[in-house]
Amino acid sequence: MTAPSPTASHVFPRHTHATLPHAVAGDGCYILDRDGKRYFDGSGGAAVSCLGHSDPAVIEAIQSQAAQLAYAHTSFFTSDPAEELADLLIEHAPAGLDRVYFVSGGSEAMEAALKLARQYFTEIGQPQRRHVIARRQSYHGNTLGVLAVGGNMWRRQQFAPLLMESTHISPCYEYRGREVGESAFDYGQRVANELEAEILRLGPNTVMAFVAEPVVGATAGAVPPVEGYFKRVREICDQYGVLLILDEVMCGMGRTGTLFACEQEGISPDITAVAKGLGAGYQPIGAMLCSAQIYAAIENGSGFFQHGHTYLGHPVAAAASLAVLRRLTMDRALDRVAPMGDRLQAALVDRFGEHPRIGDIRGRGLFRGLELVADRATKTPFDPALALPKKIKAAAFDAGLLCYPMGGTIDGAAGAHILLAPPFIMNDDQ
Ligand code: PLP
Repeated sequence: MTAPSPTASHVFPRHTHATLPHAVAGDGCYILDRDGKRYFDGSGGAAVSCLGHSDPAVIEAIQSQAAQLAYAHTSFFTSDPAEELADLLIEHAPAGLDRVYFVSGGSEAMEAALKLARQYFTEIGQPQRRHVIARRQSYHGNTLGVLAVGGNMWRRQQFAPLLMESTHISPCYEYRGREVGESAFDYGQRVANELEAEILRLGPNTVMAFVAEPVVGATAGAVPPVEGYFKRVREICDQYGVLLILDEVMCGMGRTGTLFACEQEGISPDITAVAKGLGAGYQPIGAMLCSAQIYAAIENGSGFFQHGHTYLGHPVAAAASLAVLRRLTMDRALDRVAPMGDRLQAALVDRFGEHPRIGDIRGRGLFRGLELVADRATKTPFDPALALPKKIKAAAFDAGLLCYPMGGTIDGAAGAHILLAPPFIMNDDQ
């Protein structure tokens, strides 16, 4: 074994060869490093910092909750901030969602969603329902349960022997999937109908849930569904008694212009997960919301959701998130997202609409993606060996811009895109 190289840091970083600057301060839409360099947070980290980095109301809420009560274990207590946050979330949630389960982030929220779906079916006497159907080019988190469900093959590959079985259908990805002469609506129905075919293939009474991001984030670059797609998905789930789990970890909390992205599809899920913008980066928090019917099955059955973490419903995290949600709803920060998003889209199209290496500019609200192609006419993706996303990220970073370029897989081939998710408080000049 070779001896470890002497290193100045004991932090285990994402990339062991990278030397990163130290972030020392936040100022509105900017992060400052130790040398005083300012970076415009054009991706909100990873679609997290919706209120920027120095919101006084959120900071005050954290300070006062920490001074009053930092932590109380949820097997002994509930807390005011958790109760108030749950009330406010449900007040603004899609119809039918009635209960909120607080966790510390997106993967935990999605893990809880899967386990709740499974327990729901055991409680109602359908233990044979265990299959989860998801979509290719999706990401639902990095812990083993949700990694198994996600359709990002690069992330899964190495851990495949540890993953439970799951199955993947086509994403709703108009730029790549719609055929010549096919209407957007017909395309959406065609890919939604893959869900029905997959349910029938697996055996309808063995399928537990269908999992999808309403607007696909990291793996595809802000890809919205076509009209009618999710209505058809909802119909199919209802027909076969399959739960619809929507992952709004990245696209939720106002990012697309409505608090929940699925509002724009005119449907409600049975279970949904939010995180990222929920704490806006001020505290690590996520939440799973479920329907009254699912909650009732547990309440009238075993009376115990067999799941849990130490930091469920953390009072300081809940207080921060309550302040964030109040800023979005009562202070109407959310109202800025759709018009500002339209202006961002127009500016991107104006600047890059004819660019020979940009195939598509898309998204909703302040959640925008630019797909990079080697050839616009044929939509041929770039050779992954060029490591284009990495180079773009580095060049933007040097220029003082944080953006989120990613390589993805487009049905086996490499793809690349840049994701933009700036703070809702940004102004036109920025
Ligand atoms: N689901 C989606 C759609 C995400 O984009 C992410 C993170 O990027 C997750 C789940 C996992 O969230 P976290 O990184 O907070 O665990």
